[in-house]
Amino acid sequence: MELSKGLPGQLKLFNFAKKEISLSGIYQISDFPKISEIASNKKDNVKVDLSFYLKNNKTPCVDGIIELDIVLACQRCLDDLSITLKVNFNLAFVRHNQESEELDSHYEIYVIEEEELATHDLISDEILLSIPMVPMHDYDCIKEINEQEIVEGKSENPFAILKKIKIADGGKE
Ligand SMILES: [Zn+2]
Repeated sequence: MELSKGLPGQLKLFNFAKKEISLSGIYQISDFPKISEIASNKKDNVKVDLSFYLKNNKTPCVDGIIELDIVLACQRCLDDLSITLKVNFNLAFVRHNQESEELDSHYEIYVIEEEELATHDLISDEILLSIPMVPMHDYDCIKEINEQEIVEGKSENPFAILKKIKIADGGKE
């Protein structure tokens, strides 16, 4: 199947599942406001694959893969932190909680009232769930920064720096 920027805006859950439709599309990070807020690579692609099917002849399900590279601010040093995300998910859309008891435990259960779901909301939610709560470099990035400062500091007389700060403070008053 050829990829196009052409997933429908709304997912007709039961309808798509009954027809066992598979959809692929490519978005940009900037298409998702909540992701765009925290990512600095807004022009980069988000690749989405969705496959719909009916479980137990009545429950619409979707297996999906979302792939993207996202650049976040490291919560320790605030520098760029690039993460490659490959989000695999299996969703089941049920009318009542009772219906979910018949499903395998690997499904994420969504209790829905509407027959349709906004494609952007689904993709955005799945990406947000997969982003680490506190993204950080996997090495001691602060330590490296401190070491750099120490090396740079050696070339200057530490008292000279102190003097500059004092002058700056005095000027403000
Ligand atoms: Zn860092």
